[in-house]
Amino acid sequence: MASDDFPPDWPAIEAARRVALAATMDLAATRHALTRRKLAEAGLTRADIAAPADLARLPVTTKAELMAAPHDAVLDLDGAEVPEEQRIVWDTMYTTGSTSGRPTPFVNTTSDFWDILLLQRRMLRIRGVTERDRIANLFPLTRHPHGGFFRVLHAAAALHIPVVSALPGNPGPGFAVGQELDGVVETLARHPPTILWGVPSYMRRVVARAAELGIALPDVRLVFVTGEGLSEEGRGELLARLTAAGATGAQVSISYGMTEIQGGLVECAAGAGLHNPHPEAIAVDVVDPETHRPLPDGQEGLILVSHMRRRGTLLLRYAVGDLGVRSTAPCPHCGRVTERIVGPLRRADELTKVRGMLVNPALAVAAVEGVAAVHDFRFEIAREGVLGMDDLALLVVPEPGAAPEAELAAKVKSAIGVTPRVVLVEALDSASWKAKRWIDKRI
Ligand SMILES: [Zn+2]
Repeated sequence: MASDDFPPDWPAIEAARRVALAATMDLAATRHALTRRKLAEAGLTRADIAAPADLARLPVTTKAELMAAPHDAVLDLDGAEVPEEQRIVWDTMYTTGSTSGRPTPFVNTTSDFWDILLLQRRMLRIRGVTERDRIANLFPLTRHPHGGFFRVLHAAAALHIPVVSALPGNPGPGFAVGQELDGVVETLARHPPTILWGVPSYMRRVVARAAELGIALPDVRLVFVTGEGLSEEGRGELLARLTAAGATGAQVSISYGMTEIQGGLVECAAGAGLHNPHPEAIAVDVVDPETHRPLPDGQEGLILVSHMRRRGTLLLRYAVGDLGVRSTAPCPHCGRVTERIVGPLRRADELTKVRGMLVNPALAVAAVEGVAAVHDFRFEIAREGVLGMDDLALLVVPEPGAAPEAELAAKVKSAIGVTPRVVLVEALDSASWKAKRWIDKRI
């Protein structure tokens, strides 16, 4: 069996986790400020965490805690008797940050990086990539190193296949090698990829521009999107654009990407669930959002990630901030045994009030994502006037000649019960490489 093959069953995964976690806890109990704090909070000692199941006794770690003290989550292996590759810092990646916070560092040792290569290779395998594929990396460079750009290169390396980086955009005035949209499309024409990899909002622009310029992308068979959510409506719309660019039969593959695993949970087929690519090293749990007690498969709860063998940034029972439903049954499509998140994901804090109505922004975004007449869009909520009424604006860059205002107002009203003020604009400027579809200016 090749080294990147999945473990055959749960006993094999659990045995690997048990061995890995024992060594990790021996270090973390004395050399990891975050774990020491969590043990003390629960009145526990190292001996109380004998097996992975005992992690359920540790209090969860939230994103806010990690952001407040990221260095407390890094193992201090100075002077520890561990192999050299476990002590050397290989690279440090950053989260994309939040509206208020600055990006959080995530430290990878050499041994962590080796695991990242394996994880990336497995992600490709799950998504159906073969040794004959060629990847186009459509992620921009960012000021803080981010896994989006870098890990695509490493994924290609881990499967020994070619990758061309289009380097869209410009992260700063000293940067001289980026490309505008047309340059990106020309790169794809010169090195025809079989896989496009990037964020869906930018991918959509690239594919639309290729069609406009009459540049066909007939070899594209897989489209990997990550970094932003993509509704089923958005997936259908992207596929229609791909077909217009000659990529008939292409499939869109969604990833539940997270900096905290330096990769993502991915689909083997549309609707087959998001697979944990490295179950020996990463455990995915779903717990009650209030009590944080483990929930059985099939019940929606807070998604937690635990690292079994990381040596840089280490997180145990880390709440990613999303709610989802888990399955540990073998995947009905590919047969792999691992955790899968099945059914829709939602942000744990996603509901918000607009004009007194509780609304789900994801539904509003999904209602617009499926409309072909929309080139780009963004919701903005502000408080208006002395009475402080909420103004829900939907800013839309329409396709040439399109007038989708009435259709959009009706679709959003039917999705969330609130009619937006639809404003047609020529362009949307954004400071981030991820499209922000919902901006709440009341906060
Ligand atoms: Zn599968």
